[in-house]
Amino acid sequence: MDRLIQAGLTGGIASGKTTAAATLAALGAHVMDTDELARRALDPGTPAFEAAVRAFGREILKADGTIDRERLGDIVFADARQRQRLNDIVHPEVRAAWQGELIELKRAGWRGVVAVVIPLLYEVGVQDWFDAVIVVGCAEATQRQRLRARGLTEAQAGARIAAQSPLAAKMERADFVAWNECPLAVLEQQMTRIWKRLESLPPAGGNISK
Ligand code: ATP
Repeated sequence: MDRLIQAGLTGGIASGKTTAAATLAALGAHVMDTDELARRALDPGTPAFEAAVRAFGREILKADGTIDRERLGDIVFADARQRQRLNDIVHPEVRAAWQGELIELKRAGWRGVVAVVIPLLYEVGVQDWFDAVIVVGCAEATQRQRLRARGLTEAQAGARIAAQSPLAAKMERADFVAWNECPLAVLEQQMTRIWKRLESLPPAGGNISK
């Protein structure tokens, strides 16, 4: 491939975005995980860390001085306004890190697929920044089951699912859908097909990857 294709990868919470992205990485994509960028943005000493402590108080800190992410999650997933406050702090940092990495890739002459995992891709409205958007979906019962397996309570799982726009609506808007109600090998097959389609996308205009 002679150009950089930027694909957005989204879905619902615990629908399998990270797992799907791993297949793209194995096929040769450069994967950026904005969840990871958001986590790093809140590391102690960063501007977003300071802003979050100012906004939510020192009670979001653990004894070791780092942010208690489960506690912060409980606060923001219980209240849309608090969630907006946190997003206003973290999202600009994530965008800056993402764009910085993209500029580096271009500078290094990267050719091929860059897959950006963004849980709230449609909610924040960045779909037009991509050559294509992939949505990884699954049944809500499966999301709950996977969140419970991570140790969340039924109430915590429900609040986190309710904080996102419905998965069915995301799938309707997607360029590509992977339906992750299947063994991992079948998800890999679906992602491999999507990968091939991405590689053969015609050059398109109007987004930041050009
Ligand atoms: P989050 O929204 O929390 O970032 P995610 O959408 O990235 O989650 P994953 O972390 O990929 O989701 O998957 C959630 C959990 O479900 C993981 O433990 C993963 O191993 C498991 N999982 C994902 N897909 C499958 C599958 N097809 N079969 C079995 N387990 C799966």
